[in-house]
Amino acid sequence: VARALILVDIQNDFMPGGPLAVPAGDEVVPIVNQLTERFEVVVATQDYHPRGHGSFASMHPGRAAFEVAELDGLAQVLWPDHCVASTPGAELVSGLDTSRVAAVFQKGTDPNVDSYSGFFDNGRRKGTGLDVWLRERGVTEVFIVGVATDYCVLATARDARSLGFSTTVVLDACRGVDLASGDVARAIEEMRQMGVRIALAQEVDSESLGD
Ligand SMILES: [Zn+2]
Repeated sequence: VARALILVDIQNDFMPGGPLAVPAGDEVVPIVNQLTERFEVVVATQDYHPRGHGSFASMHPGRAAFEVAELDGLAQVLWPDHCVASTPGAELVSGLDTSRVAAVFQKGTDPNVDSYSGFFDNGRRKGTGLDVWLRERGVTEVFIVGVATDYCVLATARDARSLGFSTTVVLDACRGVDLASGDVARAIEEMRQMGVRIALAQEVDSESLGD
């Protein structure tokens, strides 16, 4: 059985103290470090924006962070500047054990479209290469961890399902933003309805859960 663990955006700027901190986001790190040992294939995604990315509120005069605006025809939540390429904030968290990470897939590199999913940008115009990479290695089952539950974890799980992967989100190895109260709960419900399995880290052993 070929299964992969996908680490979503476990980066400095999303940790407490960062400009786009996910509450308690750092709590996922030790849980993820233990999980990586149970997988033969581990990959990571990395939010990686050019300076002046169109998702940054700073690029929308008169608009504030967390308002919804439009970017190249798509509704876009405006974010504080974060994960700018080649800055420390964009790096994977130093406490994360990356020794078993075989590949890192960058997203959000196009200034005109945001990318929550590790597979495609938000307009589904371009892929990151993750789908092809996994298929070339015979991966049919993915486990997803990281931040944020209600944005990039949700979008990655949604695309994984639509691409036909058996998909599990390891809930205690994820943290959410909950910009609007209930967003995380709604994300979990949406994932369940798509056929995503919601599990806890202790339930993930070294063998496939099957489907
Ligand atoms: Zn971003």
